[in-house]
Amino acid sequence: MQDPPWMLVSYHEGDPAKPRLGVRAAGVVRQPPAELAGLDLLEVLADWDALAPLLRALDPADGAPVPEATLLAPLRYPSKVLCAGANYYGHLAEMGIARPAGPVPPYFFLKPPSTTVIGPDQRVLLPARPGRQIDWEVELAAVIGRRCHRVPAERAREVVAGWTVVNDISARDRLHRDSPVAPPFGFDWFGAKAEDTFCPMGPGLVPDWLVDDPHRLGVRTTVNGVLKQDGSTEDMITGIWALIAAASAVTTLEPGDVIATGTPAGVGFPRGDFLAPGDEVVVAVDGVGTLRNVVADVADHPERG
Ligand code: ZN
Repeated sequence: MQDPPWMLVSYHEGDPAKPRLGVRAAGVVRQPPAELAGLDLLEVLADWDALAPLLRALDPADGAPVPEATLLAPLRYPSKVLCAGANYYGHLAEMGIARPAGPVPPYFFLKPPSTTVIGPDQRVLLPARPGRQIDWEVELAAVIGRRCHRVPAERAREVVAGWTVVNDISARDRLHRDSPVAPPFGFDWFGAKAEDTFCPMGPGLVPDWLVDDPHRLGVRTTVNGVLKQDGSTEDMITGIWALIAAASAVTTLEPGDVIATGTPAGVGFPRGDFLAPGDEVVVAVDGVGTLRNVVADVADHPERG
């Protein structure tokens, strides 16, 4: 696993309701430059173009270490979490779909940000229903740093502030509906993707200038230390810039919005291999970070029941 030189993180020192902005390098969280004190990461992103020169000059060793820091989701909360569906050739193949002969228009769905997004080490809660099939999906995610609408693919990188890692937790048992009232309602993307805690994100935001080529990054998942996904962003069907162009043709993208770019082969569904209480699921993208979460039964969390 190749770590980025540094990343911006959100953390707390005992009270999760008081998130702070930090700089994390070599696993150590430090205080940010004085100019950023008191801002949260969404506020930094809202002023990204103006603050980028300061951040480019940042020496991560300058800030005082915060030994009691507990990481939170970096963005609390994005206004949109857009996810590209079926965007790796290897994942299409394992789901039994033939390799498309030509270009495929991208497909997106949304996750409700404030109830699905959780941070490093927080618990993914499994719903209490029989037949649940809860699966992992490691994804490289772009974080928007400039409000934009109808941005062309050739200019899409200009609106990206940085990168993070998303685990697009998916309820495979809910995707297909047996008796849809009409064909457009044969799939339930909301039911399959939007349950509480189903969007682990982090550990931080890596500025775009610290990532050389986002289309050449290793992406992987382990569950209880066993390698499940081991791919590369080179296998994407629609590249990231075209994804951003397509998304922004529909909706205005705003600072802090997250675009998850799809998952490689190795999800549990084809083998009937699903998450269970007590599992440790770790998703990683080379040069962007490693995100660990533990899985628990929702029944053990009555406030979420
Ligand atoms: Zn996904």
